Amino acid sequence: MQNKKIIIAHGDGIGPEIMDSTLRILQAARCTLSFEAIEIGERLYMKGISSGISNEAMDAVKACGILLKAPITTPQGKGYKSLNVTFRKALGLFANIRPVIVYNPFVKSMHSEMDMVIVRENEEDLYTGIEYKLTHNSACALKMISRTGCARIIKYAFEYARANGRKKVTCVSKDNIMKITDGSFHSIFDEISKEYPDIAADHYIVDIGAARIAAKPKIFDVIVTLNLYGDIISDIAAEVSGSVGLAGSSNIGAKYAMFEAVHGSAPDIAGQDIANPSGLLNAAILMLNHIGHFEHAALIQNAWLKTLEDGIHTADIYSENSKKKVGTKEFTDVIISNIGQKPAVLKAIEPSSASKSINLDVQKPEMVDGTLIGADAYIKTTEAIDSVAKATGQIHKAFDLIHIALQGMKVWPSKDVQENNTDLLRLRYVKKDGQSAVSGADLSALYSELVKAGFEVTMFVTLKTHDNNPWFTKAQGE
Ligand code: NAD
Repeated sequence: MQNKKIIIAHGDGIGPEIMDSTLRILQAARCTLSFEAIEIGERLYMKGISSGISNEAMDAVKACGILLKAPITTPQGKGYKSLNVTFRKALGLFANIRPVIVYNPFVKSMHSEMDMVIVRENEEDLYTGIEYKLTHNSACALKMISRTGCARIIKYAFEYARANGRKKVTCVSKDNIMKITDGSFHSIFDEISKEYPDIAADHYIVDIGAARIAAKPKIFDVIVTLNLYGDIISDIAAEVSGSVGLAGSSNIGAKYAMFEAVHGSAPDIAGQDIANPSGLLNAAILMLNHIGHFEHAALIQNAWLKTLEDGIHTADIYSENSKKKVGTKEFTDVIISNIGQKPAVLKAIEPSSASKSINLDVQKPEMVDGTLIGADAYIKTTEAIDSVAKATGQIHKAFDLIHIALQGMKVWPSKDVQENNTDLLRLRYVKKDGQSAVSGADLSALYSELVKAGFEVTMFVTLKTHDNNPWFTKAQGE
């Protein structure tokens, strides 16, 4: 087999130690890989490169396509960008795959049975980082979701389940509250699940879903979810499995892939030869499977499982169930000496049953036009709500002011008009009855009239419908 080139980044903190350990094991297993190292992280940040990576290093990753990355330290303070977010965006890594498994009874955990894979959408949601301070008192963050993004990750989860012999995919959302964003995710999940009759499908609201992951993890198989929930539940799952230091994850895109440990750079234990290299080693195993090197992946995974089973443990997983506490280097040496052996109690890995990644094409969005029917104008004011309504109700002939809302709650028209205890009100304008359509010019005139009347419009959002369905939510109490 020809050597496959891999870009590696040694990272910060314990990064260099666990990368050294991982590379020693890959080489001892005679993996047909060659490595090119790039520098990323703390040293780059300190040189004033706010992204933590140089253009040359990013070009090298793009030319190669595969990155095995040790954790990096993100300096505290403003101005530094998260390197992980940079990689996800620049490389289009839309799927974050985190297998969470318990190694009962060899590694102590809260549950004896747990074998789930969390498939987290990686590019959208609140992680787009689009936030605005609208007034001194009020700020907002935009939760950006696309149909194509939802469909791609959900399809990925079902394809992953099918390719890896998994039986069920569970969707996790909060569609009882976020009816348009999370509602779309859930309804696209329901649509796509019909294409996979061989795989069971169910749904949990994220709060009870997270609670069940902590309390009854064995009921889950593959979980697919949006970015923020995925971030939170994968840490809950890792924590209850007792194996934060053991888990690896993959970040998969249509062209590129990045593999890393789930944990961070652990600066508190750096340079002491006590770090557990298993997270990065498991990431490397996921990488070998991704590039089709199934034999080598299984060889290394079995040697590692045998080491765990023999009770040779690093300090983070050492317990009364262990036999010997070892450092990073000795743990690595034992894994190397176990290459070619299989675990006796834990399930040995066959190359054919190795976890497989999926390649999916990016779908172009379907272009559907909504009908413009009005606008929401967010205005900065501490005036009484009734007087705001009087001043803005008839401000443009094409529109009716249908309600005023305060943080999503209708406060006018209403019998019990509340105090305006904030400095931001939303005025919802829709076209007058009998008016066939609203134009962009009408909206711009509406905006101008509000400004002329002395209001500061901090945000102005168009309202559309499609097939008589609103592309916006009603106010609470409407
Ligand atoms: P952390 O995961 O680095 O450490 C949390 C705790 O777990 C520490 O007590 C640490 O000693 C222990 N730990 C972590 N990995 C271990 C291992 N392999 N073996 C033994 N013990 C281990 O989280 P943190 O302390 O919150 O973050 C430290 C730095 O890492 C921060 O700068 C953070 O931004 C960064 N970070 C980077 C990544 C990444 O590069 N993907 C991910 C998370 C955090």
